Amino acid sequence: MHEHSMIRALLELVEQVRAEHQAAEATGDSVEVFQVHVEVGPLTGAEPDLLQSAFRSLTQETSMDQATLRISAVPLTASCLECGENFEIVEFRFFCPHCQGHVRVTGGDSFQLVSIDVRPSAPQSRPSKLPSSDRES
Ligand SMILES: [Zn+2]
Repeated sequence: MHEHSMIRALLELVEQVRAEHQAAEATGDSVEVFQVHVEVGPLTGAEPDLLQSAFRSLTQETSMDQATLRISAVPLTASCLECGENFEIVEFRFFCPHCQGHVRVTGGDSFQLVSIDVRPSAPQSRPSKLPSSDRES
C-alpha cells in the first residue's frame, strides 16, 4: 500500500532524528517521540485516514506506540509559464486563472517531515522515596 511505504520511510527518518536528539542530550537520557508532524500535498495521492492507520499499525509495539501523527495539508500551487502569475490550483484545474496559459506546479507534491516532538522516556523503575523508617519505638 502506498501510504504504508510512505509511513515506513517517514519512521526511518524519525528514528534518525530521535537518535541524533538523544545523542545531543547532555544527560544521556533516552528520549521518546510523542508527536510527528508532517506536511502532505494533494499530488502525493495519500489519504490522511490511511496515513493515520498505517502510522498506528507500524508503530504498534515499538517505542512510538503512544505517538501521534499530525498531518497538515499543503495547498497545490502553480505558476503560469505565460504571465508569471502564482496561484493555488483548485479542483485540479491546471491552467492559469488569469490568462489560461500553461502552468508549472510549484507546490503540493511533497510529503515531508516538519517536526518531531520528543520527551524523556519514562524510566522503567523509578527509585521510590520511602519515608525513612527511623521511627522511635
Ligand atoms: Zn497566466
